[in-house]
Amino acid sequence: MVKKNEHYRELLANKQTELLDSNAKSKDDRAPVELDQSKVGRLSRMDAMQVQAMSSAVEQRRKFELKRIDAALSRLNEGEYGYCVQCGDNIELERLELDPATPKCLTCAKASEH
Ligand SMILES: [Zn+2]
Repeated sequence: MVKKNEHYRELLANKQTELLDSNAKSKDDRAPVELDQSKVGRLSRMDAMQVQAMSSAVEQRRKFELKRIDAALSRLNEGEYGYCVQCGDNIELERLELDPATPKCLTCAKASEH
């Protein structure tokens, strides 16, 4: 399992870097909507607000995702990684491969959807 853990640690670290990178890139979009029309340029104020709303939704998701990755990394450090946080069973490997930050097995994830 040690080798596997390193594999997932790498996947998680890559994802983390990716998220932090795109966070830095989209910072401009999240700047407060400029009230001065002349400074808005080609975008109307409405457009600018829409862009801002959209990018803060993306930002929310990104934060959520980073939190999950953080949690997964600390589970790795504690040797808890790969076990469902809810029932303690092994999380399906295909699941981890698809989403290395997933905290739950398929059964528990499905159960909490409803
Ligand atoms: Zn479970």
